[in-house]
Amino acid sequence: MLPANLIEPGSFAAGKLRLQGKIALKDLDERVWSHDYLADSAAELSYTLQGGCDRWQRLFLELSIEGRLSLVCQRCLQPMPFELAERSRIVLFADEESLDEAMLSDEELEGMVSEKELDVRTLLEDQILMALPFSPRHDDCESDALDKINQDKPNPFAVLAGLKSGS
Ligand SMILES: [Zn+2]
Repeated sequence: MLPANLIEPGSFAAGKLRLQGKIALKDLDERVWSHDYLADSAAELSYTLQGGCDRWQRLFLELSIEGRLSLVCQRCLQPMPFELAERSRIVLFADEESLDEAMLSDEELEGMVSEKELDVRTLLEDQILMALPFSPRHDDCESDALDKINQDKPNPFAVLAGLKSGS
């Protein structure tokens, strides 16, 4: 028996198996919960992994991840809510050559070489990191965040100004 977070991708996809669960960010690798953009690492995400076979008879894994994260706005450095809703289909290939060939003819394709076992947690970590916005920002920092700043905390613009003059 494989441990709970390990699957055999080929037979998982061929058997159209389904795995559903919840995972706390703090149970994932440090590269996720210590990410600079995360304002709060206490979030919990729900995920579904579904195996299947597409119309070209290729096996795939379809992963959906959903949940609410708190990110750090890269403009005012205050927290901002972010609804993560990521769905991706990862097509399995027998070897690097067939993966490369398929990627060349389809730029949108997400694929991987089918190994004997795959750690679902690593897959989740990779997908979460890819789903984070390139540079999260409030639509309007002043109205979205400034009115919530505690008076005791330093003004974020003063901190920013300090960082700028110090560099
Ligand atoms: Zn902001």
